[in-house]
Amino acid sequence: MIDVKEYIPNHIQKMKGYVPGLQLNYKVIKLNTNENPYPLPDFLIKAIQDFVKENIFHLYPDPESKILREKLAKIYKKNKENILIGNGSDEILSIVFRGFLQKGDRILILDPSYSLYPVLAEALQVDVISVPLKSDFTVDLDLVIHHAKLYQPKLLVITNPNAPTGIAMSRNEILFLYNETQLPMLVDEAYVFFGGETIMYEAGSEDYPLLMACSTFSKAFSSAGLRLGWLIANPVWIKQFDKIRDSYNINIFTQKVGEMILNEWDYFHSRIQEIIQTREWFIEKLKDLNFFTLPSKTNFVFTSPPDQNAQKLYEKLLTKNILVRYFSQIPAFLRITIGTKEQMEVVYEEIYKIHS
Ligand code: PMP
Repeated sequence: MIDVKEYIPNHIQKMKGYVPGLQLNYKVIKLNTNENPYPLPDFLIKAIQDFVKENIFHLYPDPESKILREKLAKIYKKNKENILIGNGSDEILSIVFRGFLQKGDRILILDPSYSLYPVLAEALQVDVISVPLKSDFTVDLDLVIHHAKLYQPKLLVITNPNAPTGIAMSRNEILFLYNETQLPMLVDEAYVFFGGETIMYEAGSEDYPLLMACSTFSKAFSSAGLRLGWLIANPVWIKQFDKIRDSYNINIFTQKVGEMILNEWDYFHSRIQEIIQTREWFIEKLKDLNFFTLPSKTNFVFTSPPDQNAQKLYEKLLTKNILVRYFSQIPAFLRITIGTKEQMEVVYEEIYKIHS
């Protein structure tokens, strides 16, 4: 018998791989993967239907996603040569890692932060320097700088606002980190539209040539299913990254809908404001029930029940068809995505029944 597994390198065999949040096939209030609760608006769906009727899916898409890059360049006062489009920001992360890193190199990340980074590193046999957050879940800037100077990683990856904590660093803190370390730094701004300060304008500029920023349509722009993300960096790096991505990485449908979404920036921002208001309402309600919740600049909250038994609460909520996220490594906390006001009222009612 041939052992087919033998053909796969050992380091890949040993990987656990990224574990995505559950996607259940029955109807729940789904607050476990930080999706936007508002589907695309009817006026966009009508325009999308018209586009579908053009029936041009037998053709390849634009390999350069030119229109999307031009639109994002205009928004961030850049050139399209500063911009790379990805099949979700997960693909952006994968491209940057593959573009920068070789076996034996080091990256520096925060712990906890987005759990995909160590998975991408492992696949490339890259060592991960994890800098723990302080006990209040804020970033220890001195410790990051100390580790960066000591280990000289090829790349710093900073999630801002961070996940799963929801806590944001200020623009000045990010730029301070960059100036102190003088190393290539990727700031993952997946959640920045919900109250964080962006460094997209600085990324890849003459003053900050080693600074990169990425973000996604998945959260702020109600499009997790479309798979669309972007990176801003200096044009020399973007040119190199272009060589290692799939040549047609963004399909024709996603490119078109992405363009339509960027034309409606104001509409999406008003929806974002609603989510922020609901978040603040929900945090106050949790406070009344003696929950400890970290200050959030994202579309989720990281919260700890008074008995600190987050797993029990997770399981009880699931029996009420409410799906949130529990991380066994941080057993006192749940991460709850902010849904519509109506959804969060239901969630609050259920938590109230459990905890009063
Ligand atoms: N970065 C962070 C911090 C995230 O939480 C996520 C979503 N899981 C992503 C990037 C990837 O988002 P997407 O691939 O949907 O753009």
